[in-house]
Parts: sequence; C-alpha cells; structure tokens
Amino acid sequence: MYENIYRKYLLPLFETGLKRRQTLKYWDHAEDSQWWSLEGLEVHQFKALQKLIYHAGETCPYYKELFKSKKLDHKNLGSFQKFSNWPLLTRELITQNRESISSKNKYQRIQKSTGGSSGEPLSFELSMESHERRTAMTHRGYGWAGGAPGTRQLYIWGSHVGELPKWKHWKQELHQRFNNHKIISCFEFTPEKMFEHVETWNKYAPEVIVAYTNPVYEFARFVQENQLDVIPPKSIIVGAEKLYDHQRELIQNVFQAPVFETYGSREFMLIGAECDRHSGLHLSMENLYVEILDDDGNPTPNGEEGNIVITDLYNYAMPFVRYVTGDRAVAGFEKCTCGRKLPLLKKVIGRQLDILDTPDGRKIPGEFFPHLIKDFPAIKRFQVNQAGVEKINLKIVVTDDFRTDEQNILIKLIRECIGDAVVLELDIVEDIPLTKAGKHRVVVKQSL
Ligand SMILES: [Zn+2]
Repeated sequence: MYENIYRKYLLPLFETGLKRRQTLKYWDHAEDSQWWSLEGLEVHQFKALQKLIYHAGETCPYYKELFKSKKLDHKNLGSFQKFSNWPLLTRELITQNRESISSKNKYQRIQKSTGGSSGEPLSFELSMESHERRTAMTHRGYGWAGGAPGTRQLYIWGSHVGELPKWKHWKQELHQRFNNHKIISCFEFTPEKMFEHVETWNKYAPEVIVAYTNPVYEFARFVQENQLDVIPPKSIIVGAEKLYDHQRELIQNVFQAPVFETYGSREFMLIGAECDRHSGLHLSMENLYVEILDDDGNPTPNGEEGNIVITDLYNYAMPFVRYVTGDRAVAGFEKCTCGRKLPLLKKVIGRQLDILDTPDGRKIPGEFFPHLIKDFPAIKRFQVNQAGVEKINLKIVVTDDFRTDEQNILIKLIRECIGDAVVLELDIVEDIPLTKAGKHRVVVKQSL
C-alpha cells in the first residue's frame, strides 16, 4: 500500500516537485533501456563517452594537457577499441591534480569523500546530473531484487545513530520514515544489542534487508547459534564488502530468503547488481563504461582475473576517465537468461586483499585466510595483521564452542602455508573494531 502511494505520489512530489531533480525521469528511462538490444545500448554508451571525453578535453586543464601530450584527439575517439589505449586515472593522480581534473564550467557540485578500504582517503566532486543518474541506476538495480523505493526496508549499515545531535537525529528519523526505511547500526553488535536487533526486525517485518555483507553474515550466525526466529524477508540485498559463497549460503538458509549481490563504490554508486537469475551482476552500463585490464593496462582475456577500470559517463563536474578502482573481477561479460541485455560481470573478486610476504620469500595471498577460516565455524570474526615480514598476527573472536584442538589445527594449517621463517601470533580477542565506514578489514598490512 505505502509502496504504491510512495511511488505514485510522494516520491515524485519530493524529487521532482520539491527538489527539482530529474532522478525519476532517468529511472523511467533506465527501466526501458535495460531491454534494448546490446548494439543499441552500446551506441548510446559510445555517444555518451565521446561527449564526456570532448568535454574533459575542452574544460578540464588536467585532461587538456594530458591528451595533448599523448597526441590523443578528444574530438574523435573512433571506437571503444581505440579508447582502450587512453591513459588511466588513479586515486593518487586525483589527489595530486584535484583542481585541474575539475571542469572549469559552472555546475551545482556535490562534495564526496571515501576512506577506502586501502586507508587512503579520496575527496572528489560530482555534478547534480551525475548524482541523479546514479541514484536512478540504484533504484533500478535494487528493484531487480524487489527493493525498489517505497518497499519496507531494514538496513544493516554503518550508521552512528546514537552520536548525532538531536535535530539531526530527528531529521534522519523523518527521512527514514518517509522512505520506509529503518536502520540497524552494525557498530552495535554486542550480544545484548543483537537480541534487540532481532526484536526490531520482527516488529518491523521488513520486506527487504539491505546490508553490508559481513554484518548480515554475522547477524545470521547469531540468529542460528541462539536458535532465534526471524520473520523471513522477500529478499536480502548485500553490498559494500565481498560476498563469499559460504556466506551467501548461510545467510539464505538462516533468513529463508534469496541473497542479491550488488557491487558499488562511493565514486560511482551502483556499478552492478544481480537479477533473480543470480548468474552475475548486470552492469549499470548506461551510466558507466567498465573495463577489466591486466596489470600492464591491456584488456584481460576472458575467464582471467583483472583490474576493474571505470569511466563515469555523466560526471561532468569532475570526469573520472578510465579510473582504476582497486577492485578486481573475472573478465568476460556474459548474457543473462532474464532478457535484459545489460552485460553480466561474471564475478567480482572485490578489493584485492593485501599479499603477505615472509622472510623466505613466500607470497601469501590475503584470500588464503577467509577460505581457511570459513571451515572453523566457532570463529566469528578475524583479522590478519602484518607489520614487516617477520611476524604475522591473527586476531580471532570466537564462540564458547571453540576448542583447543581446533586452535592447534588452525595454527598447523597456517604454518604449512606461511613456512617456518615467520613468527605466527594468535590472539583470541573480545572484538575487532570496524573501520570508520563500518567495514571490516580482513587483512591489514602495514608497510614499515
Ligand atoms: Zn538477468
């Protein structure tokens, strides 16, 4: 009921009437264009790309200089293939050239920043149009999971509700009621609070859960261990952190609802999302041009893992042209059986976890640890720390079921992988703090 009123009257009144935004127009358009032919979508995408590059070359001093020095004609891109030789943009380059990457044209600008799992903060700008278009992409993508605006949604999210000043708290409360949202903060995951959260969930009876991956996984484990009952939602949308297969399985089993994976970032918002076929992530291709490249900047062969590089087609205030996101995915875009022609990103690997080095020259991929530890159900959360090569420290938060022999097996298995030349410390701790954004860092490597 509320969903219909919200979609038909309240949202248009707020977005178009009050805020004078074009979001709903873009959303309508995106609902239509997802069914276009792939060729049609590509023509549309290439036109937008050409327009953006022309704009960047004309109005952004950084790009003007760069294109000139590389003898690249921003007025004539030619083809996607030719564009694949154009220079890449990194987080460091943005930080060093922030002013000159910005367009000299006037825009209503929105300031954004990201802490980044890598710990290097980035601040950037986007134009209002870009904000509206990316919001439209999110509405559409969440809609595939049954979570379009107006549905009753419970967020398990990084939110500091308790610390806000009163007026801000009320503003947020109103905003949530209007949007039919409720938020559970993943910063408050003590056992007492978790019982409260279960109550909140059941009282609110959400249709859709929108969550950071690790907190909802942790929550599912808590519900399972304590044999609690929760009202099953229709779907669970996860994002912000990598989703492992074993996590999806457990979340689905405990909450009796399908999990929809999404992939997004502060820089671009929703990059891809699953439809009900769950066979990959449909790209937000009307808004973004996504490439998968190897470490030398060449296109990655299909089936192999590479770096995700994105061009935002509409951020005219501060164009992101071939931006290296720091995330990785398996190359090769596929077709979906659902009929949408938006290509599927087969598998997002997520941010490449730090590789650990040992004194005898071994390179241990960070992914080793989540894969190993998933087989120890009594370990609730963990973090690997390495400062220098001599020592690896593993912190674990465990349940009462954790046995000494499990601990010995764990140490033995890690030892087999890391060798004898490195000191291994295992600490059982009460808690592992989240990052400021509410994310959980699995591997932390500090360079000395
Ligand atoms: Zn599909």
